[in-house]
Amino acid sequence: MQAEIRAESNKPETKKKFDVIIIGAGPSGYTAAIYTARAKRDTLVISGMLPGGQLMLTTEVENYPGFSDGILGPELMTIMRKQTERMGATIIDDEVVNVDFRRKPFKVLTYAEEYEADAVIIATGASPRKLGAKGEQEFSAKGVSYCATCDGPFFKNQEIVVVGGGDSAIEEAIFLTKFAKNVHIIHRKDTLRASKIMQDRAFENNKIKFHWNSVIDEIKGSQKVNQIMIRNVTTNQQNIMDVGGLFVAIGHEPNTNLFKGQIELDEQDYIVLKNHTYTSIEGIFAAGDVHDHRYRQAITAAGFGCMAAIDVDKYLSENRRK
Ligand code: NDP
Repeated sequence: MQAEIRAESNKPETKKKFDVIIIGAGPSGYTAAIYTARAKRDTLVISGMLPGGQLMLTTEVENYPGFSDGILGPELMTIMRKQTERMGATIIDDEVVNVDFRRKPFKVLTYAEEYEADAVIIATGASPRKLGAKGEQEFSAKGVSYCATCDGPFFKNQEIVVVGGGDSAIEEAIFLTKFAKNVHIIHRKDTLRASKIMQDRAFENNKIKFHWNSVIDEIKGSQKVNQIMIRNVTTNQQNIMDVGGLFVAIGHEPNTNLFKGQIELDEQDYIVLKNHTYTSIEGIFAAGDVHDHRYRQAITAAGFGCMAAIDVDKYLSENRRK
């Protein structure tokens, strides 16, 4: 799906100066572009390496209004992309490697080009948090996964581990019981952070086993994961567990590395909004999971994209008058 999207509109872009550049092509980025392009603002979307964002990693989306039978995440993003293009926005599938927000017009550098704009909307979203355990990187995509809906079916009849104690971990664990022999939830505390209803569902599921006060010290294997070293943090006792796969579901981190030192971030590195979707720099706006760690829904991200676009339109009108 991703490759198909890229091939469709990865034409060389000769124009370098735009009214607004939108960095990121998830629900917030596409929605922002639909609105700015429709408002006749010359709009460039730089989509990054995963056009479509986190929804490209999901299967069915049941709670996005307008699709009474649900819709596959990648399909929803393909539709949003087509709508963005139909409105007249330019989309390029390139990665932003640097930005210069110190003076106007703002500069956005990709691997291939340097672009300028009078306003920028940051819609870079968030990425799954990494565990930091030994072997995690080595076995990533070789038994270590951050997306149960994407990879769960590969682990039929195996012992699977899920790390985390929030709603994501519990939701993934319940989903994985469809395929796994058993699902082992490894959580660093002795209580879950997940909502009561999710906890109840997990406790009632006899395929789910809990390992409380436990962390993973090491992930081992040869071609793929086959063992983990698990440690009880209260007794410090280590045990080896034979596993077929490991799913990390310990929250997300905002994709804000590019902007550090230029715009204000909070203590968790999310973008701080000053007034509506305005960031600490006049002319730079943010939308979606890159600033929102509370709602984190496709529909709220799209809503923030709309808000940022309306703010940009107003900002550009006011600044042209000066
Ligand atoms: P959360 O931040 O809610 O939970 C993260 C979990 O991972 C916590 O249990 C935390 O432990 C644990 N954790 C964090 N860092 C580490 C680490 N380095 N090592 C081991 N464990 C770690 O993230 P979620 O992604 O679960 O949820 C995010 C938001 O999305 C929440 O508001 C949630 O309610 C919502 N959501 C709702 C769903 C639903 O309603 N169906 C489904 C999925 C998400 P500790 O508890 O010790 O801090």
